[in-house]
Amino acid sequence: MADDRLRMQDPREQYPKPPFPEQPQPVPGLAREMTPKPDHGETSYKGSGKLVGRKALITGGDSGIGRAVAIAYAREGADVALSYLPDEQPDADEVIRLIEAEGRKAVALPGDVTDEAYARGVVREAAERLGGLDVLVINAGHQQAYESLDKITTEDFDETLRTNLYALFWMAQEGARLLPPGGAIVTTSSIQAYEPSTAIMHYAMTKAGIVAFTKALATELIEKGIRVNSVAPGPFWTALQPSGGQMQEKIPQFGAQSKFGRPGQPVEIAPVYVLLASQEGSYITGEVYGVTGGEGIA
Ligand code: NAD
Ligand code: MG
Repeated sequence: MADDRLRMQDPREQYPKPPFPEQPQPVPGLAREMTPKPDHGETSYKGSGKLVGRKALITGGDSGIGRAVAIAYAREGADVALSYLPDEQPDADEVIRLIEAEGRKAVALPGDVTDEAYARGVVREAAERLGGLDVLVINAGHQQAYESLDKITTEDFDETLRTNLYALFWMAQEGARLLPPGGAIVTTSSIQAYEPSTAIMHYAMTKAGIVAFTKALATELIEKGIRVNSVAPGPFWTALQPSGGQMQEKIPQFGAQSKFGRPGQPVEIAPVYVLLASQEGSYITGEVYGVTGGEGIA
């Protein structure tokens, strides 16, 4: 039960298990169309003042992991700007309502991060509209599965690299100029950086790139007092998956291979993003935090 999230219980039984219905959606997919509904913490995440007064930009903040982070940050006391694709406005509207319900400021900044002008501009605009920027969560991602290497198109290869790597570079560069000492950048990598699947090998390659970039960036930015870390999820129940992130026939058993016998729900990863953004994480930089469902990362 979502509202029961913090009661001690067997985590394997806490959330829905496969089988799930097949549910194809066009890219980028909407959380509101998913069955069962993901738990992003809408009714279950409780804050305790860990980010009071912070100003954060979250890319891909409309759905999935980014939405769970947006809700958690607002409940911890942060004002939040969201980046997402214009097609995702219905999902974004729900998040904006939830942030405002906490009495926090929500800034909606739709656009396409594969466009350099938008990717750079959204970081600067978030800082302008929020009156500064303390936390940058670079989380937007593109993932499309193919039967084999032979089927991956140059077009999708390009889109994957532009979304997951070029945008990361552009935004990190802008963020590094704006964030104050005490600020934090959090990237989203993946277990795919360490255990790549053939169906998404070009995606896996970008996730390994995110790990390398995050570590190098951490080394440079600690000289300005800015910490940089990555979160590496395993299988999470988000719109990315039924919209082509997996071959559709894999959706009914999504997460079944995890030691938990189920996928993670976005709210189950949000606390790590809170830690990495907050002053409680004051000695943590250059790390990759796995939340993989027990696979470990190495
Ligand atoms: P999601 O689809 O809910 O979120 C991804 C978001 O990326 C979208 O909501 C969209 O707003 C944004 N995005 C994609 N292309 C964009 C573009 N061109 N311009 C602007 N925004 C764009 O799915 P999610 O699973 O929450 O994904 C969040 C991150 O987590 C991604 O980086 C993904 O690679 C990573 N991840 C997810 C899983 C998983 O199992 N769900 C596992 C490992 C890593
Ligand atoms: Mg989305």
